[in-house]
Amino acid sequence: MPQSFVDSHAHLFYEDFANDLEDVLARARDSGVMDIVVPATNVVTSEQSLALAQRTERVAVAVGIHPHEAGKMTDEDLQRIEEFSRAPEVVAIGEIGLDFHYDFAPRDVQRARFRSQIGIAVQEDLPIIVHTRESMEEAVDIVVEAANASPGWCAGGADGRRGVFHCFTGTAEQAKLLFDAGFYVSYPGILTFKNSPVLGTLREIGLDRVLLETDAPYLTPAPFRGKRNEPSYLLYTAHKMAEVVETTVDDVAAVTTRNARTLFALR
Ligand SMILES: [Zn+2]
Ligand SMILES: [Zn+2]
Repeated sequence: MPQSFVDSHAHLFYEDFANDLEDVLARARDSGVMDIVVPATNVVTSEQSLALAQRTERVAVAVGIHPHEAGKMTDEDLQRIEEFSRAPEVVAIGEIGLDFHYDFAPRDVQRARFRSQIGIAVQEDLPIIVHTRESMEEAVDIVVEAANASPGWCAGGADGRRGVFHCFTGTAEQAKLLFDAGFYVSYPGILTFKNSPVLGTLREIGLDRVLLETDAPYLTPAPFRGKRNEPSYLLYTAHKMAEVVETTVDDVAAVTTRNARTLFALR
């Protein structure tokens, strides 16, 4: 049986894809990347991504406001995200979270907007796609607290489908806390970078609660570093993942696809 993959995180709405999106999607399918989840970053890209998902088979969308944009976000924006979230093509709220590396928005604003968007996810019973940078500990605390406060949210417990920490850079201990609270973690092309610091954690946690992503157009895997990333390049990360956890690429495809399909309830 041919391998099939899910790219759980690709920003197909960026200018980078404006001229050749059809080709990009065709190459993804030819490579076995059958489903793609597009996480938005603000109201405009939520609307664009939703429109893309509505006209493209097997492209699903997450609507939400990125921590970089949290400072510009209004209560009306929050309202729009809530309205968008009820469309059938919307499989998650995201990407949301905390970015203490760039600090484009004040941290207290980032925290408040993160919590209020988790509130929409809980209310609509949708999982979340979480972005962290130099904020792992606090982001883990916030989602675990939200999970404990809403036991019924997205199935709950260790079998929960409450969300994914994308581009996961935390420790195995932090991953364990997330798994127990019903979350997954996902890995992009940074797995293929020389001396990548995330390999040890992946080796320790195994594949049980792991997804694959590209984060296209960013984080392009070797051997294409420096070029635009696209969903078909997911295979390079999958091969590296198989090597790190000492299994076959078929196994990586089967487990990560099952996880992504479960988490996002892909049709
Ligand atoms: Zn991100
Ligand atoms: Zn992203």
